[in-house]
Amino acid sequence: MSGTLYLVPTPIGNLGDISRRIADTLEQADFIAAEDTRVTLKLLNHLGIKKPMVSYYRHNTAAGGEAVLRRLLSGESCALVTDAGTPAISDPGEELVAECVARSIPVVSIPGPCALITALAASGLPTDRFTFEGFLPMNKKNRRERLSELRGEGRTMLFYEAPHKLCATLADLSETFGSDRRIAVCRELTKLHEEILRTTLDQAVAHYAQNPPKGEFVLVVEGCQAEKTESVTLEDGVRRVLALREEGLSLKDATRQAAAETGLPKNELYQLVLKG
Ligand code: SAM
Repeated sequence: MSGTLYLVPTPIGNLGDISRRIADTLEQADFIAAEDTRVTLKLLNHLGIKKPMVSYYRHNTAAGGEAVLRRLLSGESCALVTDAGTPAISDPGEELVAECVARSIPVVSIPGPCALITALAASGLPTDRFTFEGFLPMNKKNRRERLSELRGEGRTMLFYEAPHKLCATLADLSETFGSDRRIAVCRELTKLHEEILRTTLDQAVAHYAQNPPKGEFVLVVEGCQAEKTESVTLEDGVRRVLALREEGLSLKDATRQAAAETGLPKNELYQLVLKG
């Protein structure tokens, strides 16, 4: 009979978040598959646990996965851990779980630390329906395309982001979703310098222009509030810009407001109005 794969979350910053079940599972597994064995060794030392470890990280999921699967099939149990948070969530694990499921190897997911859920719960934004978008593409064009697909998304959206890309991403979010869209920028969750900035996209851009981003971030972005966004066309958007112009707004402000109201792309609206 095969062993069980346990998905074991580890703290995203605060060692106090290790539950008894997390510690017991690490203690009782026959071996641990770790994203970085040096990081996990520190955690095991903290818990006073000695356990054989193998590497299972993003670039060895094929070979590492085969080795883990062989041992599971021979009856050993494995605890899969990553450097921080829940395995398989923007972290190695997805393929291994799929392989286990395909081979009828039991998979047990232990609940525990996860940055996205921690951020969502504290964001102050709607939590009833949300979409997790993970990391946006590195390439600017691909990132903008991905965001453009989310233009009419009505659910709360969550993104993981690295500090060195935060300012560019906030600017793209503001450009795509409108400067007034609400955001909760969740930084260093569970850590000493935990901070949640609940604001609008333009304010977030301004804040981080003054305060260079440091640490780890989850961005929780309000969904599109425009009613029936799917029926709002670019022509509707252009008409709205022109109406706002007649009310006395500058072209720039009118475009920004129309884009925020409709969820349509500010740049496209601007160009269309210019073309007449
Ligand atoms: N599997 C992990 C989880 O369950 O949250 C996520 C791993 S992913 C490689 C790392 C990203 O998660 C970071 O770049 C950041 O966006 C987010 N993250 C992790 N820890 C965080 C923390 N303490 N505060 C804010 N964001 C965090």
